Amino acid sequence: MSYSKHTSDVSMQGRSLEIALRMNEPDQTADNPKLAQHEPLEAVQVSMTPLARYEEFLQSKGLRNTSQKKFLLEQVFNRHEHFDADLLIDQLPPKGSPNYVSRPTVYRTLKEFVDAGLLHRFELEGRSMYELNYGYPEHDHLYCTKCRKLIEFTSDEIIRIRDQVARSHRFRVRDHRFIIQGTCDECAKKRTFSRRQDRV
Ligand SMILES: [Zn+2]
Ligand SMILES: [Zn+2]
Repeated sequence: MSYSKHTSDVSMQGRSLEIALRMNEPDQTADNPKLAQHEPLEAVQVSMTPLARYEEFLQSKGLRNTSQKKFLLEQVFNRHEHFDADLLIDQLPPKGSPNYVSRPTVYRTLKEFVDAGLLHRFELEGRSMYELNYGYPEHDHLYCTKCRKLIEFTSDEIIRIRDQVARSHRFRVRDHRFIIQGTCDECAKKRTFSRRQDRV
């Protein structure tokens, strides 16, 4: 289980990391964000493996683990990515293969992973996006609407303000979503460059 690989990567601590949602060139339609590899934030130490945690959850709900669910858990925890169900399904073995998992099973199992606290779900342009939650730090995102890159960051200040606002409303915080939308530095530079080109 490669969830542990992040724990050794201390050098990434505190850095904002760029996560490309798609490897395609910018300016393509925004309907189908693709996954791309990226450097994760530093992992959080957890006492159980994701599988042990999931099995504990299943037991508490009176549900059974299956080889398909186990396979999906491995696929998801093999790397840290922001993904939606379609992208995950694209990467799974096709129908007829030994590890084939049907679409409804993928959806159902993703929901279980979220309920078990293994995955974190957030909405992005009307899509449900998933990413690792278990063993991964709470963080927020900057989202570039030009190249569809997600940049992760952690901010104690945001947490402090969130808790302060919640306290003043006697509100119990479960979690929050904070996505800053705009244009990343790379895309901003590209635009400046093409404007200059136009003048030549
Ligand atoms: Zn960008
Ligand atoms: Zn993230």
